[in-house]
Amino acid sequence: SIPISYFGGIGRASKEGVLIKGGNYLDVLYQSNVFVFDKTGTLTQGEFKVIKTAPAAGFTEVELLAAAAAGEHYSNHPIGKAITAYAQQDVNETQLKNYAEIPGKGTRVEVDDQVILAGNKSLLTDHQVDLAENNEAGTIVYIAIDNQLAGYLVLGDMVKENAFAALQQLKKLGVKKTVMLSGDNSQVANQIGKQLQLDEVVGDCLPQDKVAAFERIKADNKDGKTIFVGDGMNDAPVLAMADAGIAMGALGSDAAIEAADIILMKDDPMDIVKSVDIAKYTRRIMI
Ligand code: ADP
Ligand code: MG
Repeated sequence: SIPISYFGGIGRASKEGVLIKGGNYLDVLYQSNVFVFDKTGTLTQGEFKVIKTAPAAGFTEVELLAAAAAGEHYSNHPIGKAITAYAQQDVNETQLKNYAEIPGKGTRVEVDDQVILAGNKSLLTDHQVDLAENNEAGTIVYIAIDNQLAGYLVLGDMVKENAFAALQQLKKLGVKKTVMLSGDNSQVANQIGKQLQLDEVVGDCLPQDKVAAFERIKADNKDGKTIFVGDGMNDAPVLAMADAGIAMGALGSDAAIEAADIILMKDDPMDIVKSVDIAKYTRRIMI
C-alpha cells in the first residue's frame, strides 16, 4: 500500500505544475545528491538566434542561406527552427528528398541532385568535408553542398532566468555535485558551465556519449541518488536511466514525457528545487 502522505506530496507538486509519476520518486528526490543536466532547452532557453553568417570563399550569402534553409526545412530541433526563421526562403518541398536527422549532429537532405549537410563539426568530418579551425563564440552550424563547405552560421542561446538561482538552492539543500552534458561544442558548453558555476561540464557529447558519461557519474555516486534533467531532444535514453529523470514538459518532446519520472510543466528550473522541498516535507510528515 502507498503511504497516505505520498498522495499529499504528489498533490502539492501538481499544484506547482510538477507531475510526479509515483510516490517512490519522492523518496528518490529525498535521497538525491548529484544532479546532471542537459544544456539546450534545460538550462538554456532553447530559443536560438542566428547572430552571424559566414559564406565560404566562392559562395554568396544567398547561396549559403538557400542551402541552410533546405537543410533545416523539416527539422524540429530549436537550431533548425531558428535557421529556418532567419533564412526566410521559399523552400520547394517537391525538390527535397531523403531527409534525415542525425541525432547530436545535424541534418542531411537531397535537393535535386545535390546533397546538403547542415550540422556540427562531427557531422561534416563524418563526410570528409574539410573545415578550418573555428573559434567563433557560439553554436556553429556548418553547411556543405556536395561535401564542399559553403560556409557556416553562428547561433546564440541564453541561460534561463532561474537557472543560476536554482543551482545555488540545490547546493543549499545538500546537493554535492552538479554536471552539464551537452551536444553543443565544448567552448559554448564550458562558457555556460562557468557562468552557472557547475562542478563539471562535458561538451561535444553525442547521444551515446551522454549515456556513457551519465553511467560513470551514477556509478561514482555511492551515497545518494543521481538525477537527470533534460528536454528530451536526444536525451530520452538518459532520462530513462537515471534514478529519477526530470523532463521539461512545455518544450519537451513526447518521448521525454514518456521516458521521464517527473515532468516540469512550466520548464522552470526552480521547480526542481520545489520538488526536492516537497520530497523533504513529505518525508518529515511520514516519520
Ligand atoms: P544539447 O545536448 O545541448 O541539448 P543536442 O543534443 O540537441 O544539444 O544537439 C547537439 C548538437 O547537434 C547541437 O549543438 C548542434 O551542433 C547539432 N545539431 C542537432 N540538431 C541540429 C540541426 N537540426 N541542425 C544543425 N545542427 C544540429
Ligand atoms: Mg537538449
